[in-house]
Amino acid sequence: MKEFDLPFLDRDTPLREAFGPMIIEKKSGIVVVGSSHAPILVTFDAAKKAFDTGVGTLGEVESESALSLLGHQPTLALNVLHQHGARFGVLWQVGRTARVLSISEPLADFYLTPPPGGACLNDPPDFYPPNQRDKNSPHVCVVCGSYLP
Ligand SMILES: [Zn+2]
Repeated sequence: MKEFDLPFLDRDTPLREAFGPMIIEKKSGIVVVGSSHAPILVTFDAAKKAFDTGVGTLGEVESESALSLLGHQPTLALNVLHQHGARFGVLWQVGRTARVLSISEPLADFYLTPPPGGACLNDPPDFYPPNQRDKNSPHVCVVCGSYLP
């Protein structure tokens, strides 16, 4: 079992806004919440693939569902995950962070890997994706002209 933090956003969030929090937090996934839905985990790759095919909001991305474990202690929560055959649960969410519990460390490590994205040095930065680098000037931000590492 492993506890880890991921950014979270609402299901109705436009998909193009989903990449920034993952790039800033250096996580390859995001927790997506909605009042009448179980939380879901969306990977950076799944979000990118969906964005490239024109999917509009985060809630529509192919994803893995997680159990809502609000109010559970981690050790009890692990039992609940096993009872339901679930791999992930969300223990709590506050501010822009959700605390996720996974049944194993390798499952968590996948999400804790930095995503293959970037950001320009402007404040606030522009993110890649959803923006696409100019092939001729890959280190110049196509939005603001700042340096893009
Ligand atoms: Zn920029």
